[in-house]
Amino acid sequence: KTRSPYEKEFLQAVEEVFESLEPVIKKHPEYEKANILERITEPERQIVFRVPWVDDHGNLNINRGFRVQFNGAIGPYKGGLRFHPSVYIGIVKFLGFEQIFKNSLTGLPIGGGKGGSDFDPKGKSDAEVMRFCQSFMTELYRHIGPDVDVPAGDIGVGGREIGFLYGQYRRLRGAFENGVLTGKGLTYGGSLARTEATGYGLVYFVEEMLKHNGQDLKGKTVAISGSGNVAIYACQKATQLGAKVVAMSDSSGYVYDANGIDLPLIQQLKEVERKRISEYLKTHAEAKYVEGHGAVWSIKCDVALPCATQNDITLEHAKTLVANGVTAVGEGANMPCTNEAVKYFLDNNILVAPAKAANAGGVATSALEMSQNSMRYSWTFEEVDAKLKNIMINIHKNAAKASEDYGFGYNLVAGANIAGFIKVADAMIAQGDY
Ligand code: NDP
Repeated sequence: KTRSPYEKEFLQAVEEVFESLEPVIKKHPEYEKANILERITEPERQIVFRVPWVDDHGNLNINRGFRVQFNGAIGPYKGGLRFHPSVYIGIVKFLGFEQIFKNSLTGLPIGGGKGGSDFDPKGKSDAEVMRFCQSFMTELYRHIGPDVDVPAGDIGVGGREIGFLYGQYRRLRGAFENGVLTGKGLTYGGSLARTEATGYGLVYFVEEMLKHNGQDLKGKTVAISGSGNVAIYACQKATQLGAKVVAMSDSSGYVYDANGIDLPLIQQLKEVERKRISEYLKTHAEAKYVEGHGAVWSIKCDVALPCATQNDITLEHAKTLVANGVTAVGEGANMPCTNEAVKYFLDNNILVAPAKAANAGGVATSALEMSQNSMRYSWTFEEVDAKLKNIMINIHKNAAKASEDYGFGYNLVAGANIAGFIKVADAMIAQGDY
């Protein structure tokens, strides 16, 4: 707290993990002796840089770029890049910190990192986005590499941006070294099912959690916040498994469609036309549009899937959801529920699938993309999807077991933190004072 007093999201993420670790530290004095908690909260490296780029009117704009290489004890740093005006070091550090445990939980050899910029891609032309990405990579390329640090997408960084970033990396390196980024297009080394992976993985995980408690998704009513990459594919998989998704949102408001959300229309609006979700009503007059971020949580639903951004569900929203009969919450976004909201859900026996576990399918499939790039081979959609499902089932099993082992009962929030932590802490101790 004294080192990072203004990084409030980072402090929130650390506090949440540390609460779960109390019994672990008690049982393993070696972690305290090696001062693991202090070491693990200090990034191995933080890079902050200037990103100059020229807009379509010929003006020179300056943004700030970040890459935090948080922990490389179990593999190359791995984590996405976020382009959003709210990005500052506190956001990048919270995301990088969570990524350490999430990546460890996947069982794959990847360390934790995260990056991004306060650049706002909204309303920018393709040419402006390209010039920005090229400038961003002109500094970043010297810090990353297939065995060093492998960025991917996040909010504001999708297939288009990854393409521009990779093109510039290839130009600067003079080599086709495509293992340096994941989330690539299929024509230059991307993996089938990577686009779908985070949303699908979230729903596979929630289904596992429900099954463990004698329920399933079939027939359930679902509300989703966001209408980006994670939200869209969570909606698709939940619908395939027999649930009815009645609401989705963007940062301006939400749409409610009692007949079930028309996902192809959302995809057209968001993935192709980059428009606002309110346009949904142009073709679905029977649906309802309500303005305001967070308003979506007033919808009555059985399952809530926050897939937009951090601190999306506050304590007040949690109270409304519980009063409206929610039985399960699956975190698709990173830290979408405040710590108070999570506590309220758990105190009221609502099942919570925590982000570190539930949205790990994206990075797990990124690691599968890295494997395919190394082998110069690609798996079919079905092969990748089957591996993803298996990984999600294992994450659920390991988080549930860790929670039991340390006296939390069935508490996946604590279990995910503990299972993710132990592997990294043991690797850090084995590697000496670093
Ligand atoms: P996208 O950029 O594709 O979509 C983000 C969605 O969230 C949009 O609907 C956006 O609305 C909304 N949103 C973003 N910021 C805000 C905000 N400040 N307030 C309200 N709404 C907001 O991002 P992703 O779907 O990739 O990411 C969503 C979440 O999932 C993030 O927390 C990300 O870290 C997490 N995640 C993503 C993974 C991935 O593979 N993509 C992997 C693991 C986690 P609008 O268009 O109006 O801004």
